[in-house]
Amino acid sequence: MSAIEEVKSRLDIVEVIGERVPLKKSGRAFKGLCPFHQERTPSFFVFPESQRYHCFGCGAGGDIFTFVMQMERLEFPEALRLLARRAGVMLHPPTPQEQEADRTRRRLGEICGEAARFFQEQLAGPAGATARAYLAQRGIRPETVQAFALGYAPDRWEALSSHLRERGYSEAEIRMAGLVVEREEGTGSYDRFRSRLIFPIRDL
Ligand SMILES: [Zn+2]
Repeated sequence: MSAIEEVKSRLDIVEVIGERVPLKKSGRAFKGLCPFHQERTPSFFVFPESQRYHCFGCGAGGDIFTFVMQMERLEFPEALRLLARRAGVMLHPPTPQEQEADRTRRRLGEICGEAARFFQEQLAGPAGATARAYLAQRGIRPETVQAFALGYAPDRWEALSSHLRERGYSEAEIRMAGLVVEREEGTGSYDRFRSRLIFPIRDL
């Protein structure tokens, strides 16, 4: 039996989904409010016999692996690792490619975190005076700015990228994080976000 089949045979999809979505028995299936779209009446069904789920509202569906991938925003190898650990199934150690992919993902997360901190500092500092006045005028209080980690991207071409390079991030990494745009003519890149308020999006 493959590791995938073994994980599937040891885990119950109703239990795994039920931990995240309150489910009620409905005939031979279980139903609940779909975690993948907004709804007031349940159209999300989990089928114990086939060990699959389907939402009649948004069309989301699949097996225990796709559920974890969609829910936790993971790639398949990570979802497999997570569920295998839970099922007590041994997997081969991560391949060098998987380790490299993990490292890159962590690194990109760090870069985005550092960028958000940089933008926050800018908003709090002299460069952010106009942006702060604008927020105040819109009735956005400093507590809100703090709570949502709002920031300001200064009106310069390389403010963020030079800040990140000073902290040891490479040109390629900064580009991969989507924080710079490549110049159409010549070489190099420039900051994607300039002269604007920044609302960071966080994975919770
Ligand atoms: Zn749905």
